[in-house]
Amino acid sequence: MQKETRNIGYFFDTCDGGNGAAEAIFTDFPKFTAAAYALASECGCDMGCSRCLHSTACPQQNELLLKDVGLFLLEVISQAALNSQNSSSIFGG
Ligand SMILES: [Zn+2]
Repeated sequence: MQKETRNIGYFFDTCDGGNGAAEAIFTDFPKFTAAAYALASECGCDMGCSRCLHSTACPQQNELLLKDVGLFLLEVISQAALNSQNSSSIFGG
């Protein structure tokens, strides 16, 4: 039996009724990931900050955040999104 190797990410907005962000991410994921990577990689901070990688909802106040790991993950996800743009859906297709 082959082990399941897919990874699943969830995007949602917390505005009552939604603000359209989750839908926009779903319909244009490669553009979203490229923009996220550019924003984080071009930020002048060393450890991540509220401008690039911090989440105001983080229960650990982002203390465990490693910017280098975040950049690595954003780069891998961005490349995977671009590679799958013209093939099957990255959302499980
Ligand atoms: Zn930053």
